[in-house]
Amino acid sequence: MRFDLITIFPEFFVGPFDHGILRRARETGLVEVNVQDLRLFTKDRHRTVDDRPFGGGEGMVLKPEPLFEAVESLLGSSVGEAPKPKAANLKTGIVLMSAAGELFHQETARRYAQLERIIFICGRYEGVDERVAEHLATEEISIGDFVLSGGELPAMLVIDAVTRLLPGALGNEASSQNESFSAAAHSESKAHHPAGRASQQSQVTRHGLLDFPHYTRPAEYRGWAVPEVLIGGNHAEVAKWRRSAAIEKTRRNRPDLLPEE
Ligand code: SAH
Repeated sequence: MRFDLITIFPEFFVGPFDHGILRRARETGLVEVNVQDLRLFTKDRHRTVDDRPFGGGEGMVLKPEPLFEAVESLLGSSVGEAPKPKAANLKTGIVLMSAAGELFHQETARRYAQLERIIFICGRYEGVDERVAEHLATEEISIGDFVLSGGELPAMLVIDAVTRLLPGALGNEASSQNESFSAAAHSESKAHHPAGRASQQSQVTRHGLLDFPHYTRPAEYRGWAVPEVLIGGNHAEVAKWRRSAAIEKTRRNRPDLLPEE
């Protein structure tokens, strides 16, 4: 899978992809990360990427021309004036990072992991000329309900979440199948609620379970003991405990993930 990042701060990406799962995925050729300096697609002497907003107001806005040209140069074809194709039919996603976008979830990561290529557009300043969202990007994505100063960290976060879902990225294949927000955890939560209702509701709201709590040695630390059942080696009992601990933790930290009783 190939990731392209369009940014005015290419140096931002030196380091974050050089550790752990991402590093290994790059070394084994599972993913390729390519960083594009937006300023290379400007034509004026000052390499201007931003301008003042029409209608007045604070701050600067990223201009459309360099962004369109950067994406077209990466695609090797013109986006033109044609209506943009539906993202679902594409092997390439053009993702605009935006606080005003649709929320990124684990299911978004799963969908992206099916693509061959994602081009990320990293905004800065007050944001990006709206024609980029309307006519260039296939989607506009937010990583949460807060405002950051640029799209670089959000794009990194999406790349991380997507890469670890690619077959072969994790040392242990099982580990991405039974964790917070995973399909397995999801079906476990359904098992504890009237099936029809839970699966129907999961279409609209996002139901599922957080991961169960993990413990490792020492079995007792500063007087805090690891739950007895985990030490006993009874797999059925361990599974039962993990399921109820996951439900308890979800109820405590993310009650919104559980169907209403
Ligand atoms: N004026 C905008 C915020 C601009 S922040 C607003 O109020 O919505 C500058 C850039 O940071 C954005 O263009 C976007 O690329 C990035 N950014 C900020 N918060 C983000 C978030 N929650 N998710 C994804 N990108 C974000």
